[in-house]
Amino acid sequence: MNPMREPTHIDVAQVYARPGAQPPLGPSRLHLAEGRIARIEPLPAPPAAARHRIALPAPCDAHDHGRGLRTLAFGAQDQALETWLSELAREPHVDPYLRAVVAFARMAEGGIAAANHCHNTQDGKALLREAQGVARAARDVGLRIAFAVPFAGRNNVVYGPLAPLLAHLPPADHARLIAQRQPSRTLQENLALVEEIAELSHEGFSVQYGPVGPQWVDDEALASIAQASADSGRRVHMHLFETRQQRAWADAHHPGGLLKHLDAIGLLSPRLTVAHAVWLDAADCALLAERGVMVSANVSSNLRLRSGMPPWRRYLDAGLRFGLGLDGMSLDDDEDMLREMRLAWHQLSTVDGCERFSLGDLFQAVCGHGRASITGQAPGDAELKPGAPADILVLDLRHLTRDRLSEDPADLLALVVARATKRDIQHLLVAGRTVVHEAHCRSVSLPALEAALLAEARAARQRHPPDDAAITRLQGALRAHARCGCAPPFSERETPWI
Ligand SMILES: [Zn+2]
Repeated sequence: MNPMREPTHIDVAQVYARPGAQPPLGPSRLHLAEGRIARIEPLPAPPAAARHRIALPAPCDAHDHGRGLRTLAFGAQDQALETWLSELAREPHVDPYLRAVVAFARMAEGGIAAANHCHNTQDGKALLREAQGVARAARDVGLRIAFAVPFAGRNNVVYGPLAPLLAHLPPADHARLIAQRQPSRTLQENLALVEEIAELSHEGFSVQYGPVGPQWVDDEALASIAQASADSGRRVHMHLFETRQQRAWADAHHPGGLLKHLDAIGLLSPRLTVAHAVWLDAADCALLAERGVMVSANVSSNLRLRSGMPPWRRYLDAGLRFGLGLDGMSLDDDEDMLREMRLAWHQLSTVDGCERFSLGDLFQAVCGHGRASITGQAPGDAELKPGAPADILVLDLRHLTRDRLSEDPADLLALVVARATKRDIQHLLVAGRTVVHEAHCRSVSLPALEAALLAEARAARQRHPPDDAAITRLQGALRAHARCGCAPPFSERETPWI
């Protein structure tokens, strides 16, 4: 294949047009034009250079945050979400473009063609400027990014009233936490910002409503978002039931069931994606499936933040559609979507000890449902076929197959899921552009951007070092608060994921 940025064709030994759902097409030339697959021409044999290459629909990251500085890099150690959130205060303030472009280039190198971007603001009063940086980064790297505009406004720092938490802290800390409880933007400002940010839209940048989570957003805002989504057709992306404490808060505040409440507000619709969804019971899963809501399951993140595991069996029982997300917290902190697929696959393929979930289902989740959650298009769009967007992952299997005795192509896909990592990526094409070639991002210079980001972050950290003692005191108070009975009681629910 021609390694130019917009190749006219790619040759491969196998085309997995619908991986796992239909047999591969064999040696082929994929002709590309205007960002789409023009036609797929069978070849008698692949050219020598393409003998080990296979083409797949490109994976999608259904939930992420686009932080160029990884959380471990700025000193936020993995731990339970509720105390981990206070560690985010350590993140140095950097240029929004640099922050996003480094994240997106790394995600591209991890095999990701499209991603949800749940934006975490660095400056609540500068959201539009930050969105401009993200939109430019999406264009430069060449990914398809859905920017979820954050809506929050209550229960910051702790679920429920602040006073019982403050009782565990010295008075000198109170003013800062009281200030943190104040929303930085009103509902009307946020709704107006969605419209302004939507004006930045391009092929690789679209806008979604991003209520951060039901415990952090009041009913007036949730109802307004539901109505605005129905009117505009824009999607909604929200964290839901990530942790047991969140479930406990919901059970205490909505004895009739949080999901029924959200349904009555009008929020549950096919335009909604909920991220994490770890602490769902069977009735929740049935209701979400009935309303056509999509889930982003985030396995690595749930492990690193001690949240539990997605209740896979309940998802499958209900027929709930889901994609996979990295949440900026991949298992090896390397943004490798192929590893994430493997992690989910090993869990899902053992549900009930039988084959309820196939390789075809895995690729449909990651390339189909995940993509639909980001782009709003039909899941079938992930199929490699004439007319489809040229979002294609080409893997070179030389490394994976070096010790393989069988020549049978039938077991190749299982080998890919069992072994492939981002190092095996020959090409990632998005809308026909070469974003990654031989495992390195080609649309931007990641090493140079990383160096610039780190220099800026180090300078910012020197100017405003994190207040380690205050973070430690807050974490101690949060733990004491959870133990003393003034926080919502922990639920006794289990996560029987197999
Ligand atoms: Zn998240």
